Amino acid sequence: MSKQGFRQSVSIPGLLKTTRQVFEQIPDSKSSNSISLTDHLMSGLAIFGLKYPSLLQFDQDRNMDLTRSNLKSLYGIKKAPSDTYLRERLDEVDPASLRKNYTQLLQVLQRGKGLEGFAYLDNHYLLSLDGTGYFSSNEIHCDQCGEKHHRDGRVSYYHQLLGAVLVHPDHKEVFPLAPEPILKQDGSTKNDCERNAAKRFLNDTRREHPHMKFIVIEDALASNAPHIKLLQALNYRYLLGAKQADHKFLFDWVDNTSTTVIHELIDEKGVIHRFRYLNNAPLNDANFELEINFLEYWEIKPNGKTTHFSWVTDILITQENLVPLMRGARARWKVENETFNTLKNHGYHFEHNFGHGYHHLSTVMVHLMMLAFLIDQIQQRCCGLFNRALDKAQSKIRFWQKIRNLFQSFLIPHWEAMYLGIANELKPTVIPYNTS
Ligand SMILES: [Zn+2]
Repeated sequence: MSKQGFRQSVSIPGLLKTTRQVFEQIPDSKSSNSISLTDHLMSGLAIFGLKYPSLLQFDQDRNMDLTRSNLKSLYGIKKAPSDTYLRERLDEVDPASLRKNYTQLLQVLQRGKGLEGFAYLDNHYLLSLDGTGYFSSNEIHCDQCGEKHHRDGRVSYYHQLLGAVLVHPDHKEVFPLAPEPILKQDGSTKNDCERNAAKRFLNDTRREHPHMKFIVIEDALASNAPHIKLLQALNYRYLLGAKQADHKFLFDWVDNTSTTVIHELIDEKGVIHRFRYLNNAPLNDANFELEINFLEYWEIKPNGKTTHFSWVTDILITQENLVPLMRGARARWKVENETFNTLKNHGYHFEHNFGHGYHHLSTVMVHLMMLAFLIDQIQQRCCGLFNRALDKAQSKIRFWQKIRNLFQSFLIPHWEAMYLGIANELKPTVIPYNTS
């Protein structure tokens, strides 16, 4: 893959164009307003793209001539709304209307060959799923907040979501699909839960990607019969954590079956990889007819430190695929570490409350943040100039700082000037902003 310079569709101008085209298709119920819905959505995206720490800071900048010009040249924003208007309009946007952004960007990534090298185990894609919380308050709440009622009468409100990213053990990039909010559903008074969110997610994803071959990787909460049956019905392969404490029957079965195989190998670093596996074992006594393949693994370092895992899968286990299965299952952590942790602690301010709203604002802001993250991940995978600039900045945090500094200090005619400026340590233009 060329990593030399800007590439039309998979560099940031093309990715923002794709995103804008989806925003433009969303019905604008207040089209008579001087600021279009697309400008509201692109402004939200710019806040996360530029890694603004708060809406207030963005609001303070947006009326400066310099910022106004840069928002136009970089994000195509004719007029950026005030923070109040931004919150009001985005609160009314149906989050489902943003799903198409993810499918379109994924298509661009695929066409740009960015997913080459991500195929795993017979041309599947590893899809790592996990839930996380990102908002909690004793006061601020909306129609859809989850509620926790305490014994002393206090109520806590919270938002969670089910995140899903395409991962590969050998690649650091992750590519999010549309996350599924874990929120009270329309008209319901009951709290939602991760399992129900997973049902909606798996159905929607299969509908949107009818032919894509996925291996779903999840933690031990997922290795239950109803969930496995749903995965089977929707034609997903799976690799799920399975703990002995939850699966005593299965572990006893494996212990007492003569065809259980133990296989051990030692790598060049002296690490022992010990496997134990059995195909066609019953998941549990209540679901005896539901057969799974069982894989247990110990990693024993030369200093004796041992890490232990166990999984259930529908992929036939052979001596040949033990290592890829283990590495694929262990890539599950990337949804926590490379995704949620990055979003929370490395520039995207996932847990900052950018505004909660009454209906959808909180969820819409999370989607815009996730889309900004996806755009960044695609650039990192496909765009040579982005990587040159990132290398020069030495860390993501410094890179985002440099971008915002340039954005706030100089007229930037286009993204290429921004990235070239960072990559070559040049000022992107000779026209500094004059405050006098
Ligand atoms: Zn809420």
